[in-house]
Amino acid sequence: MADPISFDPEQQRVVDHDAGPLVALGGPGTGKTRILEERFARLAVAHGADRVLFLVPNRTQKMALQDRLTRRLLFDEGFEALVEVPVYTWHGLAFHLVSRNYDKLGYSEPPVLLTSPEHWGAIRDALRHESQSSPANWPHHKHLLDNRGFADEVVDFFIRVGQRAMDPPELEGLAQARPAWREVIEFYRRQHTEMRQRNRVDYPTLLRDAVELIANFEEVRMPLHECFLHVLVDDGQELALIQQRLLTFLATGGAPDRSLTLAGDPDSAIETFRGAEPEWMDDFGKEFGPHEAIMLTTSYRLGPELGAASNSMIARNGGRGHRPTRFAGAATIEVKRLPSLATEVDAIAREIRLSHLTEGVPYEDMAILLTSPRSMLPPLERALDSLEVPFTISAPDRPLGREPIVRAFIDLALFAFSDEQDAEQLVALLRSPLIDLEDASVRELERQARERGVTLAEVIEDRPTLDGDPEAGHKIAELIELRDLLRAKREAPADEAFWVVWDRSRLCADLQARARTGLDDPAHRDLDALVAFSRALGRFVERRRGEGTFEDYRRAMDRADFGSDPWLPPERSGGGVNVVSFHGAKGKEWAFVAVAGVVDGSIPKGRRATGLFDPYFLDETDPVARNRKNEAEDRRVFHVATTRATKRCLVTTSPGPSRRGEPSRFIEELFGSVPEVEGGADLPPLTFAEAAARHRRTLADTTASPAQRMAALASIHRIVELDPSCSAAQPSEWWWRWDWTQQPLSLREQQAQSEPDEDLPLDKLRTSYSRISTYDNCGLQYLFAVVLGLDPESSHNMAFGSVIHKIFEECEPNEQGYCKISNPEQMAARYAELFKEIESMFPNRAMARQFRRDGEVMLQRYVKFLKPGQAAMVERKFKVELDGHRITGRIDRIDTIGRNVIVTDYKTSRHPLGWNEAKESLQLAIYHLAVRSDPELASLGEAASMQLVYPGAQLFKGEIAKRTQTPEQGEKALERLPDLMERVLAEDFRPHPEADCMWCKFKPLCPLWSEGKELPA
Ligand code: SF4
Repeated sequence: MADPISFDPEQQRVVDHDAGPLVALGGPGTGKTRILEERFARLAVAHGADRVLFLVPNRTQKMALQDRLTRRLLFDEGFEALVEVPVYTWHGLAFHLVSRNYDKLGYSEPPVLLTSPEHWGAIRDALRHESQSSPANWPHHKHLLDNRGFADEVVDFFIRVGQRAMDPPELEGLAQARPAWREVIEFYRRQHTEMRQRNRVDYPTLLRDAVELIANFEEVRMPLHECFLHVLVDDGQELALIQQRLLTFLATGGAPDRSLTLAGDPDSAIETFRGAEPEWMDDFGKEFGPHEAIMLTTSYRLGPELGAASNSMIARNGGRGHRPTRFAGAATIEVKRLPSLATEVDAIAREIRLSHLTEGVPYEDMAILLTSPRSMLPPLERALDSLEVPFTISAPDRPLGREPIVRAFIDLALFAFSDEQDAEQLVALLRSPLIDLEDASVRELERQARERGVTLAEVIEDRPTLDGDPEAGHKIAELIELRDLLRAKREAPADEAFWVVWDRSRLCADLQARARTGLDDPAHRDLDALVAFSRALGRFVERRRGEGTFEDYRRAMDRADFGSDPWLPPERSGGGVNVVSFHGAKGKEWAFVAVAGVVDGSIPKGRRATGLFDPYFLDETDPVARNRKNEAEDRRVFHVATTRATKRCLVTTSPGPSRRGEPSRFIEELFGSVPEVEGGADLPPLTFAEAAARHRRTLADTTASPAQRMAALASIHRIVELDPSCSAAQPSEWWWRWDWTQQPLSLREQQAQSEPDEDLPLDKLRTSYSRISTYDNCGLQYLFAVVLGLDPESSHNMAFGSVIHKIFEECEPNEQGYCKISNPEQMAARYAELFKEIESMFPNRAMARQFRRDGEVMLQRYVKFLKPGQAAMVERKFKVELDGHRITGRIDRIDTIGRNVIVTDYKTSRHPLGWNEAKESLQLAIYHLAVRSDPELASLGEAASMQLVYPGAQLFKGEIAKRTQTPEQGEKALERLPDLMERVLAEDFRPHPEADCMWCKFKPLCPLWSEGKELPA
């Protein structure tokens, strides 16, 4: 950046601007915010700080700016005292105006501002009410009134109408153009009136109200004009139409020496989903008349190469005159294409660690920007942890419910009020700061539950004491006490219930004591979050006229993804590398920035949903133009992400969590081509643990020379001396590495000894598709489940699946051509009989009832859609060979149409596999192999299709969901099989960094999960 007190001539013109409107346009690194700050300081010195209004888009920016300006005025400019530095967000200013002039707008008292989740909850409740009381108001959409997705879209519609400042004639025009929308528009009008009568206001209406006040009431407008001689606006490209209107009334008129200075970069507009219209800056004169326009043409952040590449990429969105033409910065850019998500996050962690170790770049001055935080965070956290890189995950728009301390109270409410206990949630509660049970104790409780065949909640109910943890008994007793307290307050207002529990908890006393010991203690952060939570509860109760319970609040909170809670204090950085989303990076800069997960589908996002009644129509009516607009916005988001570094930007791509991702087209646009996939180079170890792991491998390698192995041993010894806590260098911790463990007999040899009749060579494997599919997911899961047999449980899910399969089988002809079940009455009777046998396996009666009903629906759909009694074969066993390996299995159903064979496998899950996953399914591919190789099956014809059928998953018209694989796809999937079987024989049982761990029961033993972290990875 330029010297803090010197500006280039273009910047200087902005700082010195005299009167009237001025627009300053500049790309990344041209110093827009800095010159606005400088202008503010100079105007404050000349006219007084309270005569300059500075408008910014969000609270984080407001607080940072207010802080910097206050320091500048007090310490550099000699101000003796400051009442207020008037930096406002748009909504802050609007609330200030509306709450002081509410009577002019028809409110009977200052309106209560609804948070985004509250706004959503109010609309959802109103829709539900209409579904009961006046469905006739909804001729087209009445069947959707209880649907959450529909409520989302109605809220979205309300927000868009507000952002576009649509007046009654425009709404009427819309209703005539789209008759099916009339009912939504009428609902909007009713809600608007009701909210006003109840003195409630939502965010979009707040801005409209402010515009109405300034436009129509001179006694509001005049004092504002007199008070604020100068108006400054940052990030002007993000203004929605309603904000533009507000600015027009705010900044035009009054004394001739008033000024408006607006800075922005239309190429950085990334909030069109909030109504931003970057194009408006091209027509600035339309709103503000004759004005000065200044182009900031020098970027002090980007280097020449990155600057030129960025300009050429963003030019695809259309030509603009404001882009920098001179690049005086040092930032460079490069791209890496990696073979998998695990190697991608590992490469990023390495680059960061190396930059820190070799160039001294502080971790705090580095950032990782993620396209899809949800799927990328777990492997990224593991990679950063394993290279000992500290990091902070920033979520600027985080809702209250994501604060761990608040989450603990929500989980306690679930434990207190839910009929069906979610074991994972209960485990999270036990580990939470509220209960704070040791990991080992939680595992012990889970073990007891498994052994006794009861749920974790039932074990807790018995108030067990644990030998290894003398505190555990007290903590469990406290959990039960807090739960019972909350239950006793079931009907009480939410804030009262919370205070009773909070006051009784041990955590309350702990946090308060810790907070007194020092300002840096994280207890302050937790207390801030709890105070914000208690305020949110209080406001919730107040809005429901004192009737909102804790459980009501918990349900409303499910919608907290609508936005952050305005009461939540800004996040304090925990130090280390910043992990943020692309949007979260706007307006910031770091020395090193990694832009990760750059694949098509994530950036650009590809197809967007059209929705149930398509509120997005308001943005753009033509679908092709809408797609083009969406892609232009995604390109701007990518542009913002790749221009945040002051020294080095690294863009990375890999097939990602889906394993099928393709590099984003934006990579080619930015770099001119897509690089080849990088091979696995032997990279130097960056931590003691990594070095120890490598020496261990050499030590175990019988092909290495004795000298090499001795050197490895000596190195490990040295590591222990340097860092005795390095568990990877402690032989006592290596038990789980099978490549290092000496076995008298290989697993295959042990299998051959126990099955002497099996005529299979020792270097070939006998397996089943389910076993090899487990291995395909994760080697360690295979070791635990298949080799060690640690998963012998017969769950209620499995038993239920067997019952359904059994009925389906009995509906088809047996070997004698006779169907045991031939009509629905027999089917219902047989189902009742079989279900009775498994009823006791369900954790509780409510769940058993639910499963029973699900089963009845499945059977009805089976009768309706799957032609019972017409299968060519059912439950057909097979044994086939591939490359000398042997695979066994059983096919649920085989149908023939002429010489075409259709193979079906029934799944009782309600969640079908993804379409692409079905195409690559090993299970279906092995069925294809069976039809091709088994003589009897081959005699039926050729496999035409292999399919997974989900009688429990309903499609739109009530049909059954299916996922299919073609023979060509089956052949392709089979190519993976030999390598998998060779790896099983080689006893390679490493945990897979990209495994689907969702249902894995071995997380407590797995080194890739925090529960199993004490085991060395
Ligand atoms: S938790 Fe995931 S990585 Fe660990 S064993 Fe299970 S599937 Fe494998």
